[in-house]
Amino acid sequence: MRLRHKPWAKQLIEEHPEYVISSVSQLQTSWKELFGNDNPVYVEVGTGKGKFLDNMSRAYPNINFIGIEKSESVLVMGLQRLLNEYQSNVRFINGDVLDLLEFFQPGEVDRLFINFTDPWPKNKHEKRRLTYNRFLSLYEKVMSDGAEIHMKTDNQGLFEYSLESMSRYGMTLKNISMDLHNSDKEDNIITEYEEKFYQKGQRIFRLESFFSS
Ligand code: SAM
Repeated sequence: MRLRHKPWAKQLIEEHPEYVISSVSQLQTSWKELFGNDNPVYVEVGTGKGKFLDNMSRAYPNINFIGIEKSESVLVMGLQRLLNEYQSNVRFINGDVLDLLEFFQPGEVDRLFINFTDPWPKNKHEKRRLTYNRFLSLYEKVMSDGAEIHMKTDNQGLFEYSLESMSRYGMTLKNISMDLHNSDKEDNIITEYEEKFYQKGQRIFRLESFFSS
């Protein structure tokens, strides 16, 4: 995501630890306690400006949503939206997905979304793809039994790689779509990047998967 560096972003984020957790020391309780209810917890990794999270949280008020984003300049836009239009079921983590185990206890995540993350097409960058087995292993550790990963991308190479990576990891795949917007799925909630790619006429790929017990 190309976005101008915003030197003020860090400060605004630091001023709102009630909405954005930046270090594990700010997380003194479980996420359910933090949200103040027992509702399921859904996480989007690489959430960007948080548009998907915003749409999801309105469509599903009885689910708690957490977006993880490493870029402060991008995340701050999600924070500003939250400050303008408060949604009690949305929070952010300003951090790297690699540090997932610092922010979640085993079994705390009930669904994980991977939407339009960087494809890292060069072989030498395979380890950076968010569906590389090291990331799958992190997800498995924090997800509840039977919890699903839902992934969308415009990048066929990343999609095929992810199908293979998840399958090699022993995950079960289902509801695979090679052209989401020309499929019969009716409850699709659009992400910011999905909107851009769809407008350009690009195909959107989608999958659901879960760890076999
Ligand atoms: N999910 C959003 C959407 O569909 O519109 C944003 C997609 S954007 C292409 C990918 C985002 O993932 C970027 O904002 C990037 O900073 C973030 N990202 C990539 N790798 C990450 C990581 N390891 N940890 C946290 N965020 C990451």
